[in-house]
Amino acid sequence: MNKETASLVQRLSCLHELSEAEYRCLVDGFTPELAEYAASLAVKARQAVYGNKVFIRGLIEITNACRNDCLYCGIRRSNRHCQRYRLSPQEILQCCDEGYELGFRTFVLQGGEDGFFTDDLLCELLQGLKSRYPLCAVTLSLGERPRESYARLREAGADRYLLRHETADREHYAKLHPHSMRFETRMRCLNDLKELGYQVGCGFMVGSPHQTSAELAKDLKFVEQFSPDMCGIGPFIPQADTPFGREKAGTAELTCYLLSLLRLIKPNLLLPSTTALGTIHPHGRELGILAGANVVMPNLSPPSVRKKYALYDNKLSDGSESAQCKAELVARMASIGYEIVTDRGDIQK
Ligand code: SAH
Repeated sequence: MNKETASLVQRLSCLHELSEAEYRCLVDGFTPELAEYAASLAVKARQAVYGNKVFIRGLIEITNACRNDCLYCGIRRSNRHCQRYRLSPQEILQCCDEGYELGFRTFVLQGGEDGFFTDDLLCELLQGLKSRYPLCAVTLSLGERPRESYARLREAGADRYLLRHETADREHYAKLHPHSMRFETRMRCLNDLKELGYQVGCGFMVGSPHQTSAELAKDLKFVEQFSPDMCGIGPFIPQADTPFGREKAGTAELTCYLLSLLRLIKPNLLLPSTTALGTIHPHGRELGILAGANVVMPNLSPPSVRKKYALYDNKLSDGSESAQCKAELVARMASIGYEIVTDRGDIQK
């Protein structure tokens, strides 16, 4: 193993910060041996905070209608092949009822940016959910909204918000999104969410088109400085009906290595082993946990709409990806020495 990169990993695990140039050196220096070393330190760091517990979240994909046109995303506005759907508030509540029975204590409502989900509608839904399940956490992941909207949703009971920054580099952001979407807006949203008292999640894709080690180094530095409560990362996977349909996918190996580095940057970070990771590798979910992740988010959407939330090709939605198959997930995690817990899974401060 290269001494210089190994000692950088070691330093990161003690100091929880490096310069952008050092992060870049770590990304460029990626080898299976270095990744294994980083994972061993990451697992220790996570163990010290969370033991062998893995938190679960029930993910409900409430709509695939979207006004945005992100170049990588299968539910982008101009994808005519995407069959649109949206769940009614009642259907969403039913998903939560089912999830609660299955042992979920966090519900994540994710969707495209769909004007149907107004503040009024969402506030009523949140109040209904919170009165039914006062001890559960509700996470929203509904894209960019005005600060005032985030404030109202928070007031109505939303605890957490996931909004991946997608890339911390402005020029790179412009290559992944149409002109109408501004890097500044994304950052404004993340800052607003934090100020409003949400537990906030950011995140990025690994191996997205035009991404180099320079962009990934910026992502790591951004996470270090922004210090989110959660960070979702997964490999980019092409979706055939998008402009990036013929681009290369990111890899499980690099994703896992970055999960380890993120764990070392922030030992108490809530770090999901994502569906995208499970999709590109048959044991992706387990590999993510073994690299330092501590959260999984099985799908709790009604089975009839699952295939329609096609962010990328071959997205997993059954087997242990499915909330209904929790027993399979429990067994898979037990086989690598981890325990799925029935818990809100808040960040350990
Ligand atoms: N509209 C919401 C939810 C977006 S979908 C929002 O803006 O936050 C959730 C995440 O899926 C995105 O943030 C993106 O990082 C990821 N994603 C979208 N298309 C993808 C693809 N082709 N490959 C991998 N991940 C993708």
